[in-house]
Amino acid sequence: MRDNNLLTKIVSLCKRRGFVFPGSEIYGGLANTFDYGPLGVELLRNIKNHWWRTFVHQREDILGIDGGILLNRRVWEASGHTTGFIDVLVECKSCHKRFRADHLPKGINKCPECGGELTEPRKFNPMFKTFIGPVEEEAAVIYLRPETAQAIFVNFQNVVNTFRPKLPFGIAQIGKAFRNEITLGKFIFRTLEFEQMEIEYFIQEKEWEKYFEEWKQLMENWAVSLGVKREWLRWRAHTKDELAHYSKRTEDLEFEFEGEFKELYGLAYRTDFDLRNHSEHSGKDLRYQDPKTGEKFFPHVVEPSFGVNRTFLAILFSAYREEDKRVVLRLKPQIAPYKAAVFPLLANKKELVEKARRIYLSLKEEFNVAWDDRGNIGKRYFAQDEIGTPWCITVDFQTLKDNTVTIRDRDTTKQERIGVGKIKEYLKKRIS
Ligand code: ATP
Repeated sequence: MRDNNLLTKIVSLCKRRGFVFPGSEIYGGLANTFDYGPLGVELLRNIKNHWWRTFVHQREDILGIDGGILLNRRVWEASGHTTGFIDVLVECKSCHKRFRADHLPKGINKCPECGGELTEPRKFNPMFKTFIGPVEEEAAVIYLRPETAQAIFVNFQNVVNTFRPKLPFGIAQIGKAFRNEITLGKFIFRTLEFEQMEIEYFIQEKEWEKYFEEWKQLMENWAVSLGVKREWLRWRAHTKDELAHYSKRTEDLEFEFEGEFKELYGLAYRTDFDLRNHSEHSGKDLRYQDPKTGEKFFPHVVEPSFGVNRTFLAILFSAYREEDKRVVLRLKPQIAPYKAAVFPLLANKKELVEKARRIYLSLKEEFNVAWDDRGNIGKRYFAQDEIGTPWCITVDFQTLKDNTVTIRDRDTTKQERIGVGKIKEYLKKRIS
């Protein structure tokens, strides 16, 4: 059965155990911003590394780049963002809260918070502006990128010229994007700055449907491989009036957060919109030349777009369990912040502590591992369960006699004894 307070519990666990903190907290916070703590940053990095490995390193047809957050403002004119990237807002005349018109349930024309009357819809561009140059008034306005995709299109010719990839091929990027979101998000679901993992997959026009279907499978399977529950996922196609200005077909992979399906990732068929427009605006020929026929044309694009932070949240929703007296995050070992924790049975027995420290430091050369010698063993186990550490290794008196330790499995809570020399192999086998 679904737990209706899951979000509240996850927010509290994230704060208490150092995954996610409210942004600028000591100054009263800054709405829609969050900072990731020592465990949160590990989970974020593991998600991103897993993505990069799956879609860049393990494939022959995708190359990575790392483009700038600041791009020439003409990029956003060519991409249509300055005119077409628009949110429609309504404001409550009584409580002055603002809402995105597309986020209100259909047919609702009253404030969902206080029931007040709403203003007429107003258009608004969610790109953040800043300035280049020392004097604000004279300086050039520039935007923080609202998506990572455009740096890929801008570098299309550079990648083609240096690597000569053949269609179909992709260019991938992970990085921050910024949007002046006005709707208050649920925790890290909707924030002003967030990270995206995007691929522009360049194809022949006639093959777009085939690759669209293929990417749907790849996106869903990747989420599931990280522990996102497949039964809480569904695909939803955008209706005609919902489609972004560049898209001919978009489908969202939605995740059921607390009984409500919401966008986790988006998959868009962007046609040749971006390359064609950048060619026209920049005056540079961004066509691809077929190496066999010599024919020049604009490749079409299927774009899988993944949000790092929404992945993080969907993973926590999927992994959180309350069992007997413990809370446990059943994170996949590949993405768990700590792969193991090492304990001396007693903190005041020098031989135990020294032996445990040697094991801990040796494991740390290869894995991110935790050390804990506070409280009793039961408490230490529970503390590690709550942050998703898959294995706990305890050095006890028998260790001093036969060089074996106990290793306890987070999910089964079963313990087994293994030789100290076998620990790395034991972990490696289960993490890869
Ligand atoms: P929404 O309709 O929820 O505003 P969107 O359709 O504008 O999302 P896209 O432009 O498709 O989002 O962005 C691709 C991905 O980037 C999303 O699927 C999501 O994972 C992530 N994303 C977009 N906006 C935010 C945000 N404000 N905070 C966190 N992640 C975001």
